Amino acid sequence: MYQVPKLDDYSAGSLEKAFAELRAAFDAEAQAPLDEAGWKAFRDRWLGRKSGILTQVNEQWLKAAPAEAKREVGRRLNEIKDEISSRVNELRSKRQDVVVMPIGSEARASAGSPSVSGTHQLDITLPGIRRPLGAQHPILRTMNEVVAVFRAMGYSIGEGPEIESDYYNFEALNFPPNHPARDSQDTFFVAGEEAKPARERLLLRTHTSPVQIRTMEKQAPPVRIVIPGKCYRHDTPDATHSPLFHQVEGLAVDTGITFSDLKGTLDHAMKALFGSSVKTRFFPSFFPFTEPSADVAITCFKCNGKGCRMCKMSGWIELLGSGMVDPAVFGFVKKNGYDPEKISGFAFGMGVDRIAMMKYEIDDISLLFQGDVRFLEQFA
Ligand SMILES: [Zn+2]
Repeated sequence: MYQVPKLDDYSAGSLEKAFAELRAAFDAEAQAPLDEAGWKAFRDRWLGRKSGILTQVNEQWLKAAPAEAKREVGRRLNEIKDEISSRVNELRSKRQDVVVMPIGSEARASAGSPSVSGTHQLDITLPGIRRPLGAQHPILRTMNEVVAVFRAMGYSIGEGPEIESDYYNFEALNFPPNHPARDSQDTFFVAGEEAKPARERLLLRTHTSPVQIRTMEKQAPPVRIVIPGKCYRHDTPDATHSPLFHQVEGLAVDTGITFSDLKGTLDHAMKALFGSSVKTRFFPSFFPFTEPSADVAITCFKCNGKGCRMCKMSGWIELLGSGMVDPAVFGFVKKNGYDPEKISGFAFGMGVDRIAMMKYEIDDISLLFQGDVRFLEQFA
């Protein structure tokens, strides 16, 4: 390692030799490849204010110089100071180019990246920017799981408008005007529709069932379709009710479809969704658009039917409404080949929000709609 020698002879030749040795020493040390810490040490060794080599030269050569030599020593010292400090800085930006290249930034660097100009400094020791992965909302995930089970059985997916006419939402599904069954579905009506005939008035659909009619109008039998989507009812919000909710509904129509097909299909679907040990139970119910109608319960997938908080100690969870399509419903699409004398079918529907809440143990439905990332990121 170079050390600043004492200078006894201030003749021109001696000064020339001393500064040449200084420059050669710097050149030699500047050859070594440096990391960030190494470059800093190198800079301090040559340019450090307190004990850097140039400071030592200033102390030992310039200050000690006889009066007649001071001018010459000062000139040479200033010259080499400029040279060394600019080359030290140069080494730093060169070092960065070497670092930038291996991480695949050749293109960026050659395209005029700021790092080439030396104004932008890339510190590869800093932690990188973490891009959080997105994830499906628990409702969408549940809906997709249900739909996937039926797709595997050959069902296709149907969609329809969320703003529906009274005809599709009620009348064609065998809810006659003023029928008491309409009262069970508190409906949001679109304002300013009073001038229209009742069946044309618009409302927010209260179930996904209108898509059954719309599908049958477009497609002659056979039909196998699942209908996922948003529905709206004028429910007072509480832990289990929300004016916005989601359903997945299904419809199968063909010749010779019986209640056994309905039971077999739903039993298989529930096992596919909740595990092969799940049992199903059908008991009588009423829907205007199915006859006979049945509610379907499954054994609690949490306690396996022993009884727990989720199933209210009953061991059973009511999950679906279902039934054989009422012949009166086929009457509305008869001209498209839906002759109730020749064909039959079944329909079923389930609330997606409730399934998601049970599956993920969410005890307040409003959490699903608040968009709070702290809640949602648990499902990522
Ligand atoms: Zn249970």
